[in-house]
Amino acid sequence: MNGRLNKVRRVLKEQQLDAYLVTKPENRMYLSGFSGSSGMLYITATQALLLTDFRYVEQAGDQAPLFEVVQYATPAIDTLNRVIMSSSAKRVGFEGNHLTVQQFNDFSQHTHEVEWIPLNIDKLRCVKNEDEVALLRKAAAIADAAFLHILSFIKPGVCERDIGIELDVYMRRMGATKNAFDFIVASGVRSALPHGLASSKVIQTGEMVTLDFGCVFQHYHSDITRTVAVGEVPPTLQHIYRIVAQAQQVVLESIRPGLKCAAVDKIARDIITAHGYGQYFGHGLGHGVGLAIHEEPRLSPSDDTFLEPGMIVTVEPGIYIPNVGGVRIEDMILITADGCETLAHSSKDFIQL
Ligand code: ZN
Ligand code: ZN
Repeated sequence: MNGRLNKVRRVLKEQQLDAYLVTKPENRMYLSGFSGSSGMLYITATQALLLTDFRYVEQAGDQAPLFEVVQYATPAIDTLNRVIMSSSAKRVGFEGNHLTVQQFNDFSQHTHEVEWIPLNIDKLRCVKNEDEVALLRKAAAIADAAFLHILSFIKPGVCERDIGIELDVYMRRMGATKNAFDFIVASGVRSALPHGLASSKVIQTGEMVTLDFGCVFQHYHSDITRTVAVGEVPPTLQHIYRIVAQAQQVVLESIRPGLKCAAVDKIARDIITAHGYGQYFGHGLGHGVGLAIHEEPRLSPSDDTFLEPGMIVTVEPGIYIPNVGGVRIEDMILITADGCETLAHSSKDFIQL
């Protein structure tokens, strides 16, 4: 945790800030270890304070040994103001991508002497340490087990929502804390909806079913997508399955440290485009996963981040043809010294149930 605090202190120096206020739960957790639902971190070159309400004072003391716990008075802004005044901070960084306009107005109206500087620190979480990798590996393993389990559950007559519930219950029994997000179970023409949430639609023979799901294990998320056929499906869908699988495979073979995220996205996009389906791949290739389900870096045409060992990202190419159907295949991978290691081990063969 000390190393993580130092990361913020380096940012303070680089940006000539006197202090940084952390409000986003994932960053609060990452920097302090505190997992409660309410609280802020106030970090200066010499201070590390965790401001929280009376419900969490004891828990905060246990979970965040490097931080001095300060209980909010009511209203909380008075406490924050007092903390800022006593540290003599003039330039204070904050999470402009998290604080609401109302909160920001409240802060700035009560702290006249302070210049508030919006600054995103999410990138600090990109590279995972060994402990984080172990938790993400476990979260991915639970999702793998759930995929194997669900294969015998998917059959004509079962509705998408029941498949989602079965995945959920199974993963909780395996030790997951909760769902990583609302699962996507999209069958038939609905599989052309990249984010088709599990509905009451009943699975029929001859349909593809896209399952995009994952769990949270000790605060860390997993994210996997598989698309399976129920009975014989039209040749077009089998064809796009092979293209998506090939695009993903080529990315897994070529991804390595030093490549730009945008360049990795392009590898998959070029393959799908060469087959004539470029217009049907309407989202980025992948995203970081960790304390949040979607985090930096983004494998997208607009992210110029260079990949580094220890980053964990998804690789999830897809083709979605309106009114026909779609295919997506998604794995979480760990960027290693010279390539990548796939954290998910579920089969990517064309599965016909
Ligand atoms: Zn997913
Ligand atoms: Zn994803």
